[in-house]
Amino acid sequence: MRLGNGERLTTWLIVGADGRGSLCRAEAGIEARTSPYPQTAVATRFRHTRPHDNISSEFHRPAGPMTTVPLAGLESSLVWVETPEEARRLMALDDGAFMRELDGRLMGLLGAVASVGRRASFPLTRLAADRLGARRIALVGEAGHVIPPIGAQGLNLGLRDIATLVEMVAHARGTGADIGSNTLLAAYDRERRGDVTARATMVDTLNRSLISDFLPLHLVRGAGLHALNSLPWLRRLVMREGLQPSGRVPALMQQGAD
Ligand SMILES: Cc1cc2nc3c(=O)[nH]c(=O)nc-3n(C[C@H](O)[C@H](O)[C@H](O)COP(=O)(O)OP(=O)(O)OC[C@H]3O[C@@H](n4cnc5c(N)ncnc54)[C@H](O)[C@@H]3O)c2cc1C
Repeated sequence: MRLGNGERLTTWLIVGADGRGSLCRAEAGIEARTSPYPQTAVATRFRHTRPHDNISSEFHRPAGPMTTVPLAGLESSLVWVETPEEARRLMALDDGAFMRELDGRLMGLLGAVASVGRRASFPLTRLAADRLGARRIALVGEAGHVIPPIGAQGLNLGLRDIATLVEMVAHARGTGADIGSNTLLAAYDRERRGDVTARATMVDTLNRSLISDFLPLHLVRGAGLHALNSLPWLRRLVMREGLQPSGRVPALMQQGAD
């Protein structure tokens, strides 16, 4: 692999964890399909007066989800998905006006909004690399797949990529095999493909059901959320699947792993 300063690196395996614009993906000659959504996320953190009790909340609104994720103390991070025009308006507000808008949207869930941090905005995109490895380069996380920030699935997907790759590399090492071979990279791609495709499809469907005008889709989503709300066993199952899907669990992600 050639570095920016012209230096050449020779190694058995490179792990491309360099995000959605991955240079490693380009170096591996792997194509990626991208599809933009008509949505932009405004992300920030904010302080509030009521404890979050370590609960993340997701509001499903016609323009997209608005999610709070608990941080330490009386602080949460915020991902607020809107139309690009509305996101531009929110970004242009001063802190006081933004806090008032946020207060209105949260409807007292976390008490009053006490302060907000710096805001950043991200156009929502879906990206899927054709393969997760080639030419001694393995892709993990957003270098291989980007999904909208809904249902908090992105980070967990990336962690499962890494845990799977670590396991396969350790096994290859143990048997004296080449840790960056085409065989290993193809096996890694096969191992991760199902999980990545299933999560991306689920998140895409949920997101499109929010922004669609098609009434039956809203009814199906509403029925699903009602079932989640009223059936604790179903809620537990969905939460467990979100964190760690059933099927083979990489050793690094099993309880008690170092
Ligand atoms: C607004 C928003 C909210 C989100 N909320 C959630 C959530 O609540 N829960 C969740 O699970 N996921 C969430 N996600 C998704 C989550 O952020 C990603 O899944 C995760 O950050 C992907 O990690 P990554 O390491 O693959 O990529 P990144 O986090 O993008 O990290 C890539 C790193 O590589 C570095 N890099 C890139 N190119 C180079 C280079 N040439 N040289 C050196 N370094 C380089 C970058 O600087 C960066 O530090 C959210 C995403 C967005 C946009």
